[in-house]
Amino acid sequence: MSRSRAPRLTPLGPSIALATPGAIADAARLIRAGRLVGFPTETVYGLGANALSAAAVQRVFRAKGRPRSDPLIVHLASAEELPRVTRSVPDAARHLAGAHWPGPLTLVLPRAEAVPAIVSAGRETVAVRVPAHPVAIALLAAADRPIAAPSANRYGHVSPTSAVHVADDLGHRVDLILDGGPTDVGIESTVLDLTADPPEILRLGGVTFEMLRLSLPNVVQRVLASQDARSPGTAMRHYAPRARVLLFPDGADGWRRALATARDIAGRCESIAVLGPDRLIEEAPHGTLLLSWGASDDAEIARRLFALLRRADSEGVDSIVAVLPPPGGLRDAVRDRLTRAASGRVIASDLT
Ligand code: AMP
Ligand code: MG
Repeated sequence: MSRSRAPRLTPLGPSIALATPGAIADAARLIRAGRLVGFPTETVYGLGANALSAAAVQRVFRAKGRPRSDPLIVHLASAEELPRVTRSVPDAARHLAGAHWPGPLTLVLPRAEAVPAIVSAGRETVAVRVPAHPVAIALLAAADRPIAAPSANRYGHVSPTSAVHVADDLGHRVDLILDGGPTDVGIESTVLDLTADPPEILRLGGVTFEMLRLSLPNVVQRVLASQDARSPGTAMRHYAPRARVLLFPDGADGWRRALATARDIAGRCESIAVLGPDRLIEEAPHGTLLLSWGASDDAEIARRLFALLRRADSEGVDSIVAVLPPPGGLRDAVRDRLTRAASGRVIASDLT
């Protein structure tokens, strides 16, 4: 006869559930009850709450430690639901939704009264998107509510690209985390303000400037890594790991300086990581934590970036020496995140 089993202890960690139909139904009930659910999207994991309930949305700000001045993105199951959250739907929005939804494009539109002001930090606008992830869509459909969801990390920290990242950051502050595996895009959505004339990109993300220009020739792009009151989430220090990030420009000179700095720090026996493409990593000094984003596949760089930054923290590294990828396409969004992780500072001057 087998020995009697010890009683199962209630797990101390937060509740992570594989995103089965049953777990999604539980999560939808939680959303309707005003609770918080961590869930995967194709960009990063979101911290979701019923977007039509001010009390539920208040919990999101509290759980993240996010300032009330920083508005949230509202997620919809389909573009047909736009009238639930927006006062009007301009032709450009219909056109862009047709081209990019479901997908990593957030549109800033006039806010409907049904959406509590707290969602938009008191603005007359609301940011909306339809995510391209089967779990997110199933949750939205089952909850039958628009879901307000910022990235599911503590404010200012690196965005989560896995369920474990969400648990690491938010623990019991979230009622349930749906695990849908690692996210595909890996960085957040592009935020496009359609209430501005001409339409303006407030944050670069999964949809590139070049792609947007095809459907919206007059679109303008924000200056990279600048602070803008119209989109407070674009703080200069954001997406930042605990380790200090020493960031160097793309190109031979930037790489040379990055490696010299890495050797200098390693020589002082301080713990260090080097982050960049394979070719840079190969030359990193002995004893360095190697954080490679691969060869030169843009999608791969974006997909890996945040997990690599989190890895440095989990290994207890003090400094991360990183290089920027060359400009263009999805790499511009990666450049933006890395620059913010480095508090806006790219080291271009000679080493001291
Ligand atoms: P997060 O969901 O954490 O990735 O951040 C959402 C981003 O969208 C932040 O940069 C916000 O400032 C921005 N955002 C959300 N709502 C609005 C809005 N109504 N107007 C301008 N920016 C917004
Ligand atoms: Mg965020």
